[in-house]
Amino acid sequence: MDKKIYLDNAATTPTRPAVVEAMLPYFTEFYGNPSSVYELSNVCKKAIVNSRETIAKSLGADAAEIYFTAGGSEADNWALISTCEAYKAKGNHIITSKIEHHAVLHTCEYLEKNGFEVTYVDVDENGLIKLGELEAAIRPTTILISVMFANNEIGTIQPIKEIGEIAKKHDILFHTDAVQAYGQLPINVDEYHIDMLSASGHKLNGPKGIGFLYIRKGVKIGSYIHGGAQERHRRAGTENVPGIVGFGKAVEIAMETMKERTEKEVELRDLLINRIVKEIPYTRLNGHRTKRLPNNANFSFQFIEGESLLIMLDMQGICGSSGSACTSGSLDPSHVLLSIGLPHEIAHGSLRLTLSEDITEEDINYVVDRVKEIVERLRSMSPLYEDYLKNNQNRNNV
Ligand SMILES: *Cc1c(COP(=O)(O)O)cnc(C)c1O
Repeated sequence: MDKKIYLDNAATTPTRPAVVEAMLPYFTEFYGNPSSVYELSNVCKKAIVNSRETIAKSLGADAAEIYFTAGGSEADNWALISTCEAYKAKGNHIITSKIEHHAVLHTCEYLEKNGFEVTYVDVDENGLIKLGELEAAIRPTTILISVMFANNEIGTIQPIKEIGEIAKKHDILFHTDAVQAYGQLPINVDEYHIDMLSASGHKLNGPKGIGFLYIRKGVKIGSYIHGGAQERHRRAGTENVPGIVGFGKAVEIAMETMKERTEKEVELRDLLINRIVKEIPYTRLNGHRTKRLPNNANFSFQFIEGESLLIMLDMQGICGSSGSACTSGSLDPSHVLLSIGLPHEIAHGSLRLTLSEDITEEDINYVVDRVKEIVERLRSMSPLYEDYLKNNQNRNNV
């Protein structure tokens, strides 16, 4: 099998050739430091202005509200930590969900060690946040609500507008980690009452190591990286000019192609989901059936180990994931799958497949056929499956 079928686009995406092409001159030709005074630097300065404007426009924001960072994780850390520092006179409580990315969850744990209090709101069996529980968790000391736009493992899209309205009604800042949603779903920061938003280049066919934090005008958080005066004194460090140029190009293409691209992905995603759930017994789809990212499918297969399935799929040229890339390497089942109520042994048998526009119907049919074969083979070697069949046989015979 020479061809690779890459179905791990939630972990990262290939950088588009057009993006690489846009970046290249900024390594060797326009290499000036944007803070310098000569013409060579002005070219770089202008390129940054262009990218910032493209990105601002994609969100219905102002260019002055976009701050470049070294990725999604930094943007999440900045939003949470600097809000806590800036607003601690008002209170020390923040609200988030149990299924956030670790860039948010581990930052919350860090803040808890430093005197802040965090409420982790539950989600339902589809991964949707419980809005009643969220509103009931609000205290006079609550300074921030941080809920992700869409989940990176199970693809569930949160009711962001409703959460934004709750935050606004109670005069609390609202941050959303939109790393997965940005480029796949239309987002308007005013319509959704978003005060801060994190995004990352490499999740939408841009380069790695570049992201941004949108900060609404009037939100008074300070700098997180201290040093020079870049990014209007709010984020020090010589700008990653090629990264910023590439990110801008990737966003431009993502916005232009969003409708057509995601419609195609939804169609193939649904073919994948329908075939797998119908043709493989003892299987469930994780995440909401329709309120899910256009490119995300996540399954649990009873009686098998997700890791074994991944390795055998890799031997057939198929790249998938058993959860988030950040948790692989550890044997703990995904916190997201446990939060939607899966028992440990079922969470362990999970497979996430995330599509791109390059995937064809033929690819999907090939993948389903391989998954079917491998799951059957793994089950045939599983003593648990054997026991289960025996017990059921007996019951049927009685
Ligand atoms: C990938 C991801 C991040 C981290 O972004 P990086 O740019 O890799 O630091 C944060 N949140 C979510 C939801 C992600 O999927």
